[in-house]
Amino acid sequence: MSFLTNSQLDKDSFLRSLQDCNNLDTLQGWVFHDGMHFSDSCQWWNKTKKRLHPHEGVDLVYYLNNTGKQHFFPPGTLIPAITDGIVVHDHQDFLGQTLYIQHEQFQQNSKTLYSLYAHIAINDKLPERVTKHSHLGVIAEVSDSSPVPPHLHLSMAWIDNLLKINTINWNNIADHESICLLDPMNFITGSPQRMQHFLVCK
Ligand SMILES: [Zn+2]
Repeated sequence: MSFLTNSQLDKDSFLRSLQDCNNLDTLQGWVFHDGMHFSDSCQWWNKTKKRLHPHEGVDLVYYLNNTGKQHFFPPGTLIPAITDGIVVHDHQDFLGQTLYIQHEQFQQNSKTLYSLYAHIAINDKLPERVTKHSHLGVIAEVSDSSPVPPHLHLSMAWIDNLLKINTINWNNIADHESICLLDPMNFITGSPQRMQHFLVCK
């Protein structure tokens, strides 16, 4: 069993990386609305509607700057990796591309930790091995007719080492017996004590 310590995956490091690679003012934190969190059932862009599946990750849409003002991450926002890893898979959906990063340094019960970044335009010069300072891509533009505003969807998962990663997509990920989706909030906020709980599958 492996634990993510502060030095390996600091609770604020993803926010700080977003801040640094996009030359933003000091970010005070994330802003979440109903429907953005892991397992939420409603749509945050249309609160009267339900999602087809409980949310498979977290949607990063807004942040607070150093004056406490709320801003959104616009299309073109550079996306850093949550920690070091290997680029292993990608696919396209109606809001952009999804990129899969394998974090082989974290193993549990024949499963490996992965991070997934969706609704992005992938950096076409991305090397196979990335660090937490790599630019994976940018938040994708969406068409004027899209009901969903641009944003970054982040999923974290334990995935069985025997599963072929290129068979995974958003239609089969939620109910896959070889995949344990995790709440990404445990990777981007919270205390080190809370981080120990991220290892437990639902
Ligand atoms: Zn999402």
